[in-house]
Amino acid sequence: MPMKFAAATYADLEFRTPAEMRCVQDALLQKHIAYLAENSEFYRRIFAEHGIDPGSIRGGADLSRLPLTAKADLEHCPADFLCVPPSAIVDLCLTSGTTGKPVTLAQTRADLDRLGYNEEISFRATGLDENDRVIIAAALDRCFMAGLAYFLGLERLGAASIRVGSSSVPLLCEMVLQQQPSAIVGVPTLLRVVARALQAAGHDLQTLGVKRLICIGEPVRCADLSLSALGQQLHELWGAQVFGTYASTELATAFTDCCAERGGHLHPELIVLELLDEAGRPVAAGETGEVVVTPLGVTGMPLLRFRTGDMAVLHQEPCACGRRSPRLGPILGRKSQMLKIRGVTVYPPAIFAVLQGIEAVKGYYLEVHNTYELSDRVRVVVGADAGSLSADAVAEQIAARTRVKPEVVVMSPDEVRRRTLQETKRKPVHFFDLRNSRG
Ligand SMILES: [Zn+2]
Repeated sequence: MPMKFAAATYADLEFRTPAEMRCVQDALLQKHIAYLAENSEFYRRIFAEHGIDPGSIRGGADLSRLPLTAKADLEHCPADFLCVPPSAIVDLCLTSGTTGKPVTLAQTRADLDRLGYNEEISFRATGLDENDRVIIAAALDRCFMAGLAYFLGLERLGAASIRVGSSSVPLLCEMVLQQQPSAIVGVPTLLRVVARALQAAGHDLQTLGVKRLICIGEPVRCADLSLSALGQQLHELWGAQVFGTYASTELATAFTDCCAERGGHLHPELIVLELLDEAGRPVAAGETGEVVVTPLGVTGMPLLRFRTGDMAVLHQEPCACGRRSPRLGPILGRKSQMLKIRGVTVYPPAIFAVLQGIEAVKGYYLEVHNTYELSDRVRVVVGADAGSLSADAVAEQIAARTRVKPEVVVMSPDEVRRRTLQETKRKPVHFFDLRNSRG
């Protein structure tokens, strides 16, 4: 029997003590494991191969006895993860496929209910309620989970959804003016393009009434949880509060900033989160680790200890909003994309964040090559109109923020677009790994 997610059931859970949250979470994890043992061919095989009695997993503390699930496992045998008969499937999502080939994830009615609940409580924590009118500047088609999740969450919240999508800047501008939304959900760089277009048409954004921007897909915070250059720009352009959120199709759960803007809250009833080091051990408090998740209560294609490949830091201290659930800092980058430049470790998004803050930059990508020393050779290619940007100035700004000074090349925006926009990818590609050891 799938569990029913209702806001009332877990209403004050995140305000309770860590021990109380753990108690609720451990009980849900036991249910999750029992469900896998009964219905998942993949995990039944894992339990058998490792000689694990599923009933002996009593809580999060026992998880380390179980192996991790990799994206490659899902890619190789997606059918083995399916726990329901075909008739129970009501929606199909594709994973983003930015790193591997996209995988189809089947969702049941209970999964959609869970997804809506997740977004409802995430939106509620940002301060949204039934009086809000929200533009969803994200796609609901192309088998994206995100746009659908936002719609379901807003519907449960009782807010009005304005499903404009992300494909037309003129339509977004028109709907902002016509519908006067109180909030917009969208990719931060798109929200900046819309702001610029409205300004160019002579509109004063500060008077439009947009109070909240829920930023998806790209981080808007630095590691210290302050707004990034892009986040700060959005805040100033729109005169709105800026919220970051981290989610993916496999997570089926969002980590969204609350009204206190101090990182994305973990909902204990929806997900178990571990941050692990190279050897698969939990990292020390405050250290960067790989995000490994067990989304609870998923019925279609549930996962256990799924490796996201994303690197982040967890903040354990109670939040100013009163919630005591841990908060996930911004995703620093992908584990496989870590760059080592003369002894300094840096992830590409740290460099991208600098580029996103430079007005004249119109597109960018980064290439990394092997060198003979123990250092990667990084080349940053930036698109800009002729004469509007100096490569040296960009390199200086990157050095000031990241402590590494890569080679910077300026090209025309068209040349950059030809490289970053690829037919087969749903999102622009900004990172090209040409290191032979990584394939
Ligand atoms: Zn908070």
